Amino acid sequence: MLSCKQVSELSARAKCEGLSFSDRIKLKYHMMMCKGCQTYHQQINLLQQATAKLFNKPTGGDTLCKEARERIKQNLKSDKSKD
Ligand SMILES: [Zn+2]
Repeated sequence: MLSCKQVSELSARAKCEGLSFSDRIKLKYHMMMCKGCQTYHQQINLLQQATAKLFNKPTGGDTLCKEARERIKQNLKSDKSKD
Protein backbone atom coordinates (compact mmCIF):
# COMPACT_ATOMS: atom_id res chain seq x y z
CA MET A 1 0.00 0.00 0.00
CA LEU A 2 1.15 3.55 -0.73
CA SER A 3 2.14 5.79 2.14
CA CYS A 4 0.04 8.89 2.90
CA LYS A 5 2.89 11.04 1.59
CA GLN A 6 2.93 9.17 -1.71
CA VAL A 7 -0.84 9.56 -1.96
CA SER A 8 -0.68 13.31 -1.50
CA GLU A 9 2.04 13.52 -4.18
CA LEU A 10 0.00 11.36 -6.54
CA SER A 11 -3.19 13.33 -6.05
CA ALA A 12 -1.34 16.60 -6.63
CA ARG A 13 0.07 15.13 -9.85
CA ALA A 14 -3.40 13.85 -10.82
CA LYS A 15 -4.74 17.42 -10.82
CA CYS A 16 -1.94 18.62 -13.13
CA GLU A 17 -1.18 15.84 -15.55
CA GLY A 18 -3.48 12.91 -14.81
CA LEU A 19 -2.46 9.44 -13.59
CA SER A 20 -1.85 6.05 -15.11
CA PHE A 21 -4.50 3.38 -14.55
CA SER A 22 -2.40 1.52 -11.96
CA ASP A 23 -1.66 4.74 -10.04
CA ARG A 24 -5.36 5.56 -9.97
CA ILE A 25 -6.15 2.11 -8.56
CA LYS A 26 -3.45 2.45 -5.90
CA LEU A 27 -4.77 5.91 -4.99
CA LYS A 28 -8.38 4.72 -4.74
CA TYR A 29 -7.36 1.69 -2.70
CA HIS A 30 -5.43 3.82 -0.21
CA MET A 31 -8.29 6.31 0.04
CA MET A 32 -10.74 3.53 0.88
CA MET A 33 -8.52 2.27 3.68
CA CYS A 34 -7.11 5.49 5.15
CA LYS A 35 -9.38 7.77 7.20
CA GLY A 36 -6.67 10.41 7.44
CA CYS A 37 -6.40 10.84 3.68
CA GLN A 38 -10.19 10.80 3.28
CA THR A 39 -10.51 13.68 5.74
CA TYR A 40 -7.58 15.51 4.17
CA HIS A 41 -9.09 15.31 0.70
CA GLN A 42 -12.55 16.35 1.91
CA GLN A 43 -10.97 19.43 3.45
CA ILE A 44 -8.99 20.21 0.28
CA ASN A 45 -12.18 19.95 -1.78
CA LEU A 46 -14.08 22.20 0.61
CA LEU A 47 -11.29 24.73 0.48
CA GLN A 48 -11.28 24.69 -3.33
CA GLN A 49 -15.06 25.19 -3.44
CA ALA A 50 -14.87 28.04 -0.92
CA THR A 51 -12.07 29.71 -2.89
CA ALA A 52 -14.01 29.34 -6.15
CA LYS A 53 -17.10 30.91 -4.53
CA LEU A 54 -15.04 33.75 -3.16
CA PHE A 55 -13.59 34.65 -6.55
CA ASN A 56 -16.85 34.14 -8.48
CA LYS A 57 -18.74 36.41 -6.12
CA PRO A 58 -20.18 39.33 -8.10
CA THR A 59 -18.91 42.75 -7.13
CA GLY A 60 -21.47 45.23 -5.83
CA GLY A 61 -24.83 43.92 -4.65
CA ASP A 62 -24.54 42.84 -1.04
CA THR A 63 -21.01 44.18 -0.74
CA LEU A 64 -22.19 47.80 -1.10
CA CYS A 65 -22.70 49.63 2.14
CA LYS A 66 -26.15 51.02 2.89
CA GLU A 67 -24.97 54.61 2.42
CA ALA A 68 -23.59 53.91 -1.08
CA ARG A 69 -26.80 52.15 -2.06
CA GLU A 70 -28.89 55.14 -0.95
CA ARG A 71 -26.62 57.53 -2.88
CA ILE A 72 -27.02 55.48 -6.05
CA LYS A 73 -30.79 55.39 -5.60
CA GLN A 74 -30.89 59.18 -5.20
CA ASN A 75 -28.73 59.68 -8.30
CA LEU A 76 -30.94 57.40 -10.35
CA LYS A 77 -34.07 59.26 -9.18
CA SER A 78 -32.62 62.65 -10.03
CA ASP A 79 -31.53 61.40 -13.47
CA LYS A 80 -35.06 60.20 -14.19
CA SER A 81 -36.62 63.48 -13.14
CA LYS A 82 -34.54 65.31 -15.75
CA ASP A 83 -36.35 63.46 -18.57
ZN1 LIG B 1 -3.36 7.91 3.97
